[in-house]
Amino acid sequence: MTTETIIETPTFADLGLVEPLVRRLSELGYETPTPIQARAIPTLIEGRDVVGLAQTGTGKTAAFALPILQKIDPKNSKTQAIVLAPTRELALQVCEAITAYATNIPGIRVLPVYGGQGYGFQLSGLQKGAHIVVGTPGRVIDHLERGSLDLTALEYLVLDEADEMLNMGFAEDVERILANTPEYKQVALFSATMPRQIRSLAKKYLHDPVDIATPKATTSTATVRQRWIQVSHHHKLDALTRLLEVESGDGMLVFVRTKSATEELADKLRSRGYSAAALNGDLVQAQRERTVAQLKSGAIDLIVATDVAARGLDVDRITHVVNYDIPHDTEAYVHRIGRTGRAGRTGEAILFVTPRERRMLSAIEKVSGRPVEEMSVPSAEEVNERRAGRFATAITSSMGSPQFHAFRTLVEEYVSENDVSMTDVAAALAVMSQSDKEFFLRPDPPAAPPRERREKPAGFERSDRLPSEGSAVYRVAVGKRHKIGPSAIVGALANEGSLKRSDFGKITIGTEHTLVELPADLPDAVFEALANTRISGKLIDLQPDDGPPIKRTREDRKPYDKSAPGKKPYAKKPYEKKPYEKKPHEKKPYEKKPYEKKAPGHTDSASGTRKPRHK
Ligand code: AMP
Repeated sequence: MTTETIIETPTFADLGLVEPLVRRLSELGYETPTPIQARAIPTLIEGRDVVGLAQTGTGKTAAFALPILQKIDPKNSKTQAIVLAPTRELALQVCEAITAYATNIPGIRVLPVYGGQGYGFQLSGLQKGAHIVVGTPGRVIDHLERGSLDLTALEYLVLDEADEMLNMGFAEDVERILANTPEYKQVALFSATMPRQIRSLAKKYLHDPVDIATPKATTSTATVRQRWIQVSHHHKLDALTRLLEVESGDGMLVFVRTKSATEELADKLRSRGYSAAALNGDLVQAQRERTVAQLKSGAIDLIVATDVAARGLDVDRITHVVNYDIPHDTEAYVHRIGRTGRAGRTGEAILFVTPRERRMLSAIEKVSGRPVEEMSVPSAEEVNERRAGRFATAITSSMGSPQFHAFRTLVEEYVSENDVSMTDVAAALAVMSQSDKEFFLRPDPPAAPPRERREKPAGFERSDRLPSEGSAVYRVAVGKRHKIGPSAIVGALANEGSLKRSDFGKITIGTEHTLVELPADLPDAVFEALANTRISGKLIDLQPDDGPPIKRTREDRKPYDKSAPGKKPYAKKPYEKKPYEKKPHEKKPYEKKPYEKKAPGHTDSASGTRKPRHK
């Protein structure tokens, strides 16, 4: 690890950002600017137009949002900035990010406007005055035509995922919006690709823009096998623990984006029984060195790190690099995977890709120099097979233990006293060693269909009760009678259930209850987190909605099996633990009784099977 490289990287303050924003980024756990941020932020602060070649995952949202937040005047309630995005999902995501960055700048209002949502909420938001509007082109045009959106005071305009907007047939709409804005405004255009159409759009509407592309990199890591897995954000932890069960390896380096994420993930892994530690730029040098030494010596097997903290890390034991969060650029990817396959050994690099990050994957494939193979999250079956294998190995190795003979004698005595088979005793001992944990994962449910990614342009409305692909309808026990609106529902579920605004689909408020469209594969952790959530003082009792109003309780659901991704809530059989009953022949604790041989066990006359006398 070299200190010089850490100093060479600019800080957010170096880029010219004001203190409240710099503080906010540190609160969010961002260590250093990503390459696109390092170049775009000072350029935009300076007032120049920008054309940025960047995919999702590069940190482009902060690259344009931070300068806008810095320059906007909160006292002027007119719309000063507009961000155009191709899909509802992206618009919501950008809106959410800007809101998160704006926390320390009081009074800034950000409003999403997109097709598919009713006009009421958007109209009242626009009437109140939104400093920043983030919208899909079709709906922005609608508002311009209705006169509900006034762009005469516009100072900043961002075209996000410009190539996607054109691909989706929004070219005309985008040009119309551009033509409806004041001549002197600052424009930033971001696009994953630069087809001719985008170039000419930039030429026509941008003033002397600065071209910013994230640097290209190539790998020289011929000894590293590269694989990728598509996994949604909610299921990353389960995917990682399954990989830990089925991959054979030694040390593992897991990359995440933020300092806080290193701590959170290391904690979660420790609580699942793995020896893991966090490595981030907040740790003092001595602590970092200690953690690396622990990995080297094998005292720990897993390090969860940020890019900065893992710079230059050279530990031969690292057989696996897991890109838990996709890197911001291809250079970071090349650097990350170069932490394995060292000293002439082979290494494994596994990349987690959420559906939205597929474009970043293509960029990575280009630099990787070799195919990045797709793999799937290990199935419950594979995990169980490994568990069975490890069980067998553990038996064999326990036979070499110094205690083995003492236990052997005890087992022999037990068998002759109780007339049971050795297999039964062995199985009973295995149950004891499991201390009530389930040994096998439950089988995986059939995979849910992928979530629809794109909002269809113009005129697309879903039918009332049919959720979009990959979504499901859930029910909460508050409705009109409790004087609530959609924002109360979204606010409560998003804040307390750690859901993103983009997770929400259609919301239908009834008298007593509300139906909310959410991802179909909502993990039970979300249900747990929302178990005590109230809106207007009423417990919301979030439940999957099967259509007819059947009242179900939380107890009807199976407990969350943390290692089974893609699981939908389903009904559970009532828990039937029988109360403990003392049997007439109950044996007193062994050591308190003098050793005496017992008569063989009885035969169960009904079934004809032999049963041990004592359960
Ligand atoms: P984007 O490319 O804008 O979609 O951003 C991708 C992800 O990176 C988001 O989850 C951001 O919160 C995160 N992010 C953006 N900038 C940074 C940074 N400088 N350090 C760490 N994470 C970041």
